[in-house]
Amino acid sequence: MVKIALGQRQLTDLAEGRFQQAQDIAESFLLEIDPLIASLPGSGPARERIISRGTDYLEQLLASARAAADAAVTAARLVVAGERAAFSATRPPGHHAGRDFMGGYCFLNFSALAATTLQDGGAKRVAILDVDYHHGNGTQSLFEDRGDVFTLSIHADPLHEYPFYLGHADETGHGEGLGANANFPLAPGASSATWFRALEEAATRIAAFAPDALVVPLGLDTFVGDPLSSFHLTGTDFLRLGARLQALNLPTVFILEGGYAVAELGENAALVLDGFEGAR
Ligand SMILES: [Zn+2]
Repeated sequence: MVKIALGQRQLTDLAEGRFQQAQDIAESFLLEIDPLIASLPGSGPARERIISRGTDYLEQLLASARAAADAAVTAARLVVAGERAAFSATRPPGHHAGRDFMGGYCFLNFSALAATTLQDGGAKRVAILDVDYHHGNGTQSLFEDRGDVFTLSIHADPLHEYPFYLGHADETGHGEGLGANANFPLAPGASSATWFRALEEAATRIAAFAPDALVVPLGLDTFVGDPLSSFHLTGTDFLRLGARLQALNLPTVFILEGGYAVAELGENAALVLDGFEGAR
């Protein structure tokens, strides 16, 4: 069974023992956010709108991000403790957030926290496979100079879609991370067959990297009915995605990312997990 890690656990729980580092990272993200918020000019709507269009700051949102960070680390801890997989129902999403920037509704990068927690728990090499409709620019930027975390992303071509400036196929990492980043940009309107060909290529790359664990930033805005998407994945495709991820045979942490077909979001997430478990 895939364990479900929900938010609202106490962040102080992270301060224990080997998870101190994960908390330090979360706190450093937050420390960078707070002065940024304080430095914004004026008051009212102008002050509440930060950095990137569409990423409005609300008091409750930062509290949610803190709880979601805890949920992501909790999910990773479950996997460190021996669970085959865990799913973190995070909101807001996180994969567009980097060390010193936010955007695309994202404030803290939960997949990065999960990967770090897995490494704290003994995983030497971690792969992060982002299947959101949008490129995981925050995650790539956090790990692009590291060879021990392989970041991969299948997404709509940034020539046409957010985040626009990162996510191209020629971004392969640099320094020690050279070769440990892979992007699979797909044309707007790409078919499910095209999407799964990219998934297969990503799976081959992951197998060659031979990681100890996998983090899946699970965006479900690839859904055919998603208002932000031009892809065509259906419920059957989400089952297939889950089954293919299971076949990688790795301890796996799922982190919920985008998904704006609200009525179908829960079912689509459940389909991926059911596919992973071979339940349907
Ligand atoms: Zn997205």
